Amino acid sequence: MDFRTMIQSLEEKGMIAHVRTEVDPVHELAGVAKRFEGGKKALIFDKVKGKEFPVVCGLWWNRDVLGAQFGVSGREVPAYIGNALERFHSAPVPPVIVGAPPCQEIVEGDIDLTRLTIPTLALEDGGAYLDDSVVIAKDPDTGVRNTSIHRIMVTGKNRCTMLMDLGRHLRDYYERAEKKGQPLEITINNGVPASVYTCAITAGTAIDEDELGLAAALQGDKAIALSRSRTVGVEGIASAEVVLEGRILPRVREPEGPFGEVTGYYAQRDDRWVVEITAITRRRDTMMQTLLPGKEVWNSIGACSEAGLLKTLSKQVPGVKNVYLAHANCGFYGCVVQCDPPRAGFGKNAILAAFGAFPPLNMVTVVNSDVDIFDAEDVMRAVTLRFDPTKDLVVVPAAACHELNPVCPGGLGAKYGFDATIPPGEEERYRRVAFREVDLAKYVIE
Ligand code: MN
Repeated sequence: MDFRTMIQSLEEKGMIAHVRTEVDPVHELAGVAKRFEGGKKALIFDKVKGKEFPVVCGLWWNRDVLGAQFGVSGREVPAYIGNALERFHSAPVPPVIVGAPPCQEIVEGDIDLTRLTIPTLALEDGGAYLDDSVVIAKDPDTGVRNTSIHRIMVTGKNRCTMLMDLGRHLRDYYERAEKKGQPLEITINNGVPASVYTCAITAGTAIDEDELGLAAALQGDKAIALSRSRTVGVEGIASAEVVLEGRILPRVREPEGPFGEVTGYYAQRDDRWVVEITAITRRRDTMMQTLLPGKEVWNSIGACSEAGLLKTLSKQVPGVKNVYLAHANCGFYGCVVQCDPPRAGFGKNAILAAFGAFPPLNMVTVVNSDVDIFDAEDVMRAVTLRFDPTKDLVVVPAAACHELNPVCPGGLGAKYGFDATIPPGEEERYRRVAFREVDLAKYVIE
């Protein structure tokens, strides 16, 4: 299902609200979006000042809206993605290149990024950002495609600066191209099917796998249609609303940032990688997509990683029931594991297994199955009442973490776990207080 058909189906389900009043793309659009963050409707900004196209925001800030894009409930999303990942690994469906792709209905004669509906989000951001466009590139040695999402700041009519954080496959591709003195060609795809967006986020695919096979699995094993590009040797998504063709230049760095990141703090301005845009193509009646950093990213990382994390933990630690990459932990720096350890010590094993299974984690909290892992208050209460730091704390100093977390400069930080499970044999002290069940229909209460 292409992007606009998916938006149409969300409209029919009542999951879209239209902002009819004209908004300024600089700060005002994001200011309005922020007030709706996490709600049960995504927003379409119909009129954006000085821009030709409407823009959608909030497709990922609520798990039910996210699930609706795949026809499942919010709680079913991790398992849906986990199943697709398994089918991708057992019988991948490779993408196909099609003729007359919709994304090339209009080829802009004049390359001018400032005409596109790309908003400036947070008050101190260094400029307008593409923050949810899918970047496609090819391995300079093997030709295998990679899909990923990066923050990309517009710095001129045909120029951008971008972040390629440590450990990303795109950065690996680029570093090998740069060593040969070559640019890395890319397409930047905006307004893509949910399956493509999801495959670009999901961890658990290797550098020698074409992730677009995962996108096919996510849309019922139907091959992803690609377009042959006009100026670069890497394909675009045929149904994308907008495709930017370009190249990441070797041995050139220019300032990027600041950018209000998913942590709620600003990433600092620094010299980073430079993209030169060589073509802009698009569909007729273009509708663009943007993302508000925060819940949208916490959900996307969480929903795309929980299934894999749960699978690994369940194999390695007895008693594991569920796992949540909690919003309270920014969706990827911490998780809550639900586990009823069959004997003493397995709570700590769950902590160690989680660190091994998901490298960006700093913090793991393990609680029993009577705790609602989706409720940060219930989890924190369990820590307060069941966790003794003199014996239940695990700390690993100076481990490899995620560099966007401000407490991990250079990607180096502590990993630590709270084993807040009830020690076997001590259940009696932790019996929850209960009250009599009553049928409220029997009472007159005004
Ligand atoms: Mn990859």
